[in-house]
Amino acid sequence: MQQYFVNDRLDINIMNNLDKDQAHHIINVMRMKTNDLIRVVDVDSKVFLCKIHISDREVNFEAIEAIKDASIMNIKVTLIQSLIKKDKWDFLLQKTSELGVDCIVPLQSKYCVVKLNDDANKKVERWSKICTEAAEQSKRSTLVKVEQPIKLSDISLYKSDLNIIAYEAADIDTNKLSSLLLANPQIKSVTYIVGCEGGFAKEEVEYANSLGFINASLGGRILRAETAAIYLLSATNFFIDIEGENDGKNN
Ligand code: SAH
Repeated sequence: MQQYFVNDRLDINIMNNLDKDQAHHIINVMRMKTNDLIRVVDVDSKVFLCKIHISDREVNFEAIEAIKDASIMNIKVTLIQSLIKKDKWDFLLQKTSELGVDCIVPLQSKYCVVKLNDDANKKVERWSKICTEAAEQSKRSTLVKVEQPIKLSDISLYKSDLNIIAYEAADIDTNKLSSLLLANPQIKSVTYIVGCEGGFAKEEVEYANSLGFINASLGGRILRAETAAIYLLSATNFFIDIEGENDGKNN
């Protein structure tokens, strides 16, 4: 079942309408008919089962019931991601969106081969579209926020309860990601920094450390940046499940 995001507050039996791109998708791509059903996520991230009414090029819909939302992560994840080459970057955006990232902050770090000119608006718009399509496909009830690219000096603007820099040279035994997460069972938010193809300069890691970002090793293999980002989101999902089970046992 297709899912769409709208900027309105929905309620049962209230008619509403989709925008022209969404109407085009329903009519021309999905070839849907009146009375077909779709999922719609409203401005408050509430999910509704909706019946569509097609007239000419317009698609209206009526919310017929609220749907339980299991897509929300109990930990808000911010990913400060050094810019990498386009095809891997698009893949990274899509997969981390499927895995529940809340906010992606592009980082222009020292070894980035990708250089952004000043006006990154068009790129951010395209990146947001990739994340929205992934959110629709994965039936998320929240959209991913893609920020304007930053320099290392801005990373403290995106700190969380726990702040981690995935560092390829971090000590495998004493900087385990699992130990860091398990030592912080009550966190509600985490920020991860991941490097580009060239990795991090030592002084960049030291600067992040000075702001409270803790080094984490992702194991004994050097992962591609996009793999590291996926690893971090996957590990966070697993950690949330483990903590959820522990809470269940403790209550
Ligand atoms: N060119 C570098 C590797 C860069 S990998 C080298 O050969 O050493 C890209 C990014 O993914 C790294 O900057 C880091 O953020 C993350 N990463 C990859 N493997 C990792 C590992 N084993 N531990 C921690 N972070 C890792």
